Amino acid sequence: YLMDTDLEKNNLSDRQITHNLYGGNWENRMKQEYLLGIGGILLLQHLGISKEIYHMNEGHAALISAQRLADYVEQKGLPFDVALEVVRSSSLYTVHTPVPAGHDYFDEELLGRYMGHFPHRLGISWQEFIDMGRTTPGSSEKFSMSVFALNTCQEANGVSYLHGVVSRSMFAPVWPGFFAEELHVGHVTNGVHLPTWASPESQAFYKKHLGTDYVSRQADESTWAAIEHIPSDEIWQLRSQLKENLLHYITHDYRKRWLRANDGSANLPEGLDCIGLNTLLIGFARRFATYKRAHLLFTDLDRLSRLVNHPDRPVRFLFAGKAHPADGGGQGLIKHITEISRRPEFEGKIIFLENYDMHLASKLIAGVDVWLNTPTRPLEASGTSGEKAEMNGVLNFSVLDGWWYEGYRPNAGWALTDKTTYHDQQMQDRLDAHTIYDMLEREIIPLYYDKEGKSYSEGWIHHIRNSMMYIAPHFTMRRMMDDYYDHFYKPLSQRQQAVNASSYAMASEIVEWKKQTAAHWDEMQILRVNASGFELRTTNTDVIQSLEVEIDRGGLTAGLKVELIVASDDNQGGLTLAQSIPLELVEQSADSRWQKYHVDCRLKNPGIHRVAIRVTPHSALLPHQMDFAYVRWAAL
Ligand SMILES: *Cc1c(COP(=O)(O)O)cnc(C)c1O
Repeated sequence: YLMDTDLEKNNLSDRQITHNLYGGNWENRMKQEYLLGIGGILLLQHLGISKEIYHMNEGHAALISAQRLADYVEQKGLPFDVALEVVRSSSLYTVHTPVPAGHDYFDEELLGRYMGHFPHRLGISWQEFIDMGRTTPGSSEKFSMSVFALNTCQEANGVSYLHGVVSRSMFAPVWPGFFAEELHVGHVTNGVHLPTWASPESQAFYKKHLGTDYVSRQADESTWAAIEHIPSDEIWQLRSQLKENLLHYITHDYRKRWLRANDGSANLPEGLDCIGLNTLLIGFARRFATYKRAHLLFTDLDRLSRLVNHPDRPVRFLFAGKAHPADGGGQGLIKHITEISRRPEFEGKIIFLENYDMHLASKLIAGVDVWLNTPTRPLEASGTSGEKAEMNGVLNFSVLDGWWYEGYRPNAGWALTDKTTYHDQQMQDRLDAHTIYDMLEREIIPLYYDKEGKSYSEGWIHHIRNSMMYIAPHFTMRRMMDDYYDHFYKPLSQRQQAVNASSYAMASEIVEWKKQTAAHWDEMQILRVNASGFELRTTNTDVIQSLEVEIDRGGLTAGLKVELIVASDDNQGGLTLAQSIPLELVEQSADSRWQKYHVDCRLKNPGIHRVAIRVTPHSALLPHQMDFAYVRWAAL
């Protein structure tokens, strides 16, 4: 359902709320997110749609939790705390942005102007409400939609393996006392919709060789095994057809569209006609956000010129892209690349196509030989255009970031290694540019032209076969949906059923447990840590060491998780978790107020360790330790 405010019955100022994506000022952004989150839930109610699970993509949609909370409080009469457990148990938050600056933060005054009436509806104070959006409750931080999402969702995930790692670090401050690597934030790698992004020719090819029902079996590697036996001629025919389609598209449709858009005037890229079918064609097309580093290829123009002007093994580059109107950097980059492409040595050899849209994208990702992607690591959360290319036998040449970190395998495309990394971005750019030229000169171009008297290179086809068989199946929408279903939707569905059963009995039980635990937490005392003879400087990791902790729980009735936490320096001034070793309850007083915990353990790695005892409350009712993140530390 597309929500739009540009309707005649709306007043003028409301009509423009949805005019621009990410447009306008923070106030308009607030209005858009109010519309999406709160309006979205009201829309579903209006349509009579009610679902078990609510999945918010980015913090932009986080206010769906606010509206759902209000509904449970106002319509079902639940106390706020119980409503929060019910909403949490049925919500998933997916973060797509790897940098904190990409998240939404609203200052208190602005938030108050739009959300000021919500605390009253929820039966809580303004302070309690705004704290749900703060990393540190009680501080003067702005309200973060992402933190609000984390606090109102049972589960959270990033959109690739690496982005999961990055997201855990980014969100670690929300749960002080826990290491990033312990957080419950997981990942599901993005995929692309095969029937949309495989060209009609590719689809006919798959139908013929993989069976007419291949779409329903797309996420299964065995479906693609038949590619092994397809004659190279046929694979090359498909590739040639797709390239011809692209060349035809840009010399006809694109040219016409361009002339129409520009009143038939000049500036049409020259040389559209002179890209040959048998010339290695490399594509690079994306939003010109600066982290995508479209400029990288242009670092050494002499070397680039030698590549495109090689007498026997020339290369052609097609660039396309769009920059955000407000992104001066991106606009400048497009101008820069357009200018370079007009120089005599590059004219007709490096071509920049403006107005990148889905239609141009669908031709490009199918028609080029190689898809190039050079983002700054680790800023490509997933990336999807390379996956689209994958569905058409186009080989990827990309930085090991986002999806390609998982997708790359040898002899099925190329990867810019992640081994050397510099903190100085300019150094990194220079190194990466150098590696790109090197790999083009030494591996990619020679392989493409290694035809041995045939019309194509067997080695190249070998790469295409591997890439279709082993990479494509893992980056389709179907695999992504399967992952969401298995890792999140199914467990959440079971969880919310359990939490809601018998008039929200479990939700009330959790609330009661949290209240009790919070009330008595400060009474709990770590009486004694017996670590006599415990060696922190280990050379022999076979040595078994013992540890004992005695605790007086005071009035606390909650179960405890007592752990030996072993950390090491991460060389950036912080600590990483090396080991967390649970201690066992071995003895307790009749009223179980006094407890003794014990462990015999081995330190995994030799070296000097930093260790401490961590005590957290434990309840089988809560899926994650972070769900009630009270922490007590004791030194050894
Ligand atoms: C797929 C696509 C994108 C996104 O590509 P990324 O590689 O994820 O940046 C952007 N614009 C268009 C038109 C697309 O088709």
